[in-house]
Amino acid sequence: MPCPTLDDCRALDAADPLRPLRDQFDLPPGVIYLDGNSLGVLPRETAARVQAVVTDEWGQGLIRSWNTAGWFTLPQRVGDLIGRLIGAGPGETVATDSTSINLFKVLSLAMHLQHRRGDGRRVLVSERSNFPTDLYVAEALCRDRGWTLRLIDGDPQTALPAALGPDVGIVMLTHVNYRTGAMHDMAAVTAAAHAAGALMVWDLAHSAGAVPVDLNAAQADFAVGCGYKYLNGGPGAPAFAWVHPRLSAALGADDWSTLAGWWGHAAPFAFTPDFQPAPGVQRLLCGTQPIISLSALEVGVRTVLAAEPLGGMAALRRKSLALTDLFITLVESRCAGHGLTLVTPREPQRRGSQVCLTRAEGAYAIVQALIARGVIGDFRAGDAWQPDILRFGFTPLYLGFEDVWHAVEHLRDVLQTQAWRDPAFQRTQAVT
Ligand SMILES: *Cc1c(COP(=O)(O)O)cnc(C)c1O
Repeated sequence: MPCPTLDDCRALDAADPLRPLRDQFDLPPGVIYLDGNSLGVLPRETAARVQAVVTDEWGQGLIRSWNTAGWFTLPQRVGDLIGRLIGAGPGETVATDSTSINLFKVLSLAMHLQHRRGDGRRVLVSERSNFPTDLYVAEALCRDRGWTLRLIDGDPQTALPAALGPDVGIVMLTHVNYRTGAMHDMAAVTAAAHAAGALMVWDLAHSAGAVPVDLNAAQADFAVGCGYKYLNGGPGAPAFAWVHPRLSAALGADDWSTLAGWWGHAAPFAFTPDFQPAPGVQRLLCGTQPIISLSALEVGVRTVLAAEPLGGMAALRRKSLALTDLFITLVESRCAGHGLTLVTPREPQRRGSQVCLTRAEGAYAIVQALIARGVIGDFRAGDAWQPDILRFGFTPLYLGFEDVWHAVEHLRDVLQTQAWRDPAFQRTQAVT
C-alpha cells in the first residue's frame, strides 16, 4: 500500500460519519491531543452542568436536592449509562470512588467468596506489566488475607495457562495494557480462569469508551474502570464497579466487601448499628459521593453515548483502528531510519486505542519536544524488563485523520532536526 498523503487524510476526514462528534468538545487551538487515554478532554457542556449543580441544586435546593435533584441515586444512574458502553444491563454498574478503591472493594469481596467456598484457594494471578496501583491494591489485600500474588511475565497467551492451578482464587487483569496498548481476549481469558475455578476481575481503565466490551457475554465476574480517561469525566472523576448479575443474585447477607459503608446498606436511613448489604452491586457503594464530580462524569459519558445513533462503540472502534493504523503506517514510512520501534501489537484485534513506540535514546525528551509544539502524548519510563515508551492515545470522538498526519510530521521534524536534544526538554517533571 502506498503511504497515505495529507490529501488522503483530508479525504478520510471529509468522509468520516463520526466527524460531528468533535463539536461536543472545546479543544484549545493549535493542540493535537493524543492523551485522551490519560485525561479525556473537556466537553462543551460540562462547565454549564457543573455551574447548574452548584448554583441551582446546591445553592437553591440545598439538602432537598438529595431527593429533588436525584443526587442520592446518581451513582446508579451514571453507572447505568456507563453500563451501555461495557455490555452491562441496568442496575449492574455503579459510578463511585476511584479505580483503586473500587478494585480494593471488588477484590476483597472476591476473596471473601473464595474463603466461603472453602477449598483453600489463596493465589491471585495478575501480570507484572499491569498498572502499578492494581498490583499495590492486590499486594496489600494478599498480605492482609494470607494470599499470594502470582505475577506472570511475557505473552499472557502462554504464561496465563501455566499460572492457573487449583490454588488460584482470582485472576485480575487490565483488559488493555496501559503501557503497550495490548488487549486481552476477554471471553477466552475469562473462560480459562473459570475452568481453573477462579473468579475473573477485569480493569477496564483503557477500555470503557475506547473499545467494545461485553462483560455479560464474556461471563466476567467483576469489573472496575476509570471515569477520567476515555469517559471524559474530568481530572479525578469517579470510577465505576460492576458485578455480573448471576453473581449479584447469589450474594447473601454476609457477602460484602471490607470497605462497608452506609451508602451500601440496604436501608441507609434506618441507621441500624449493624451492616445489612443493599442488593447486588449497590453494596459496593461506601460513603457519600462527590455529586459535582459525578455530574461532570455524566456529561462525559454522554459524549461517548452520542455515538449510539451513528453506530455506537462498533463505529468508534472502526475509526479508532483506522486512526491507529494510519499512525503506525505514517510513523514507519515518514520516520523511517530514526530508531523508533513499535511496541503495540500490530494485529488490530490485539490492541486497544493507543500506539506505543520505543527508542533507545531520548524518549522522554522527544515527548517533551512534541508537547512544546502542541502535540500532546506522554512518556512512561522503562526499567530492567521493559523499555521507555512514547505513548499516543487516539480518541475517535475528537481526533481526525489530518491530526494524525500533522502529529507524525512533528515527530519526524523533532527527530530529523534533533530538536529534542535541547536541554529544556531533558528536565523531568513530577507528572510525565
Ligand atoms: C488509570 C488507571 C488506574 C487509575 O487508578 P486511580 O485510582 O484513578 O488513580 C488504575 N488502573 C489502571 C489499569 C489504569 O489504567
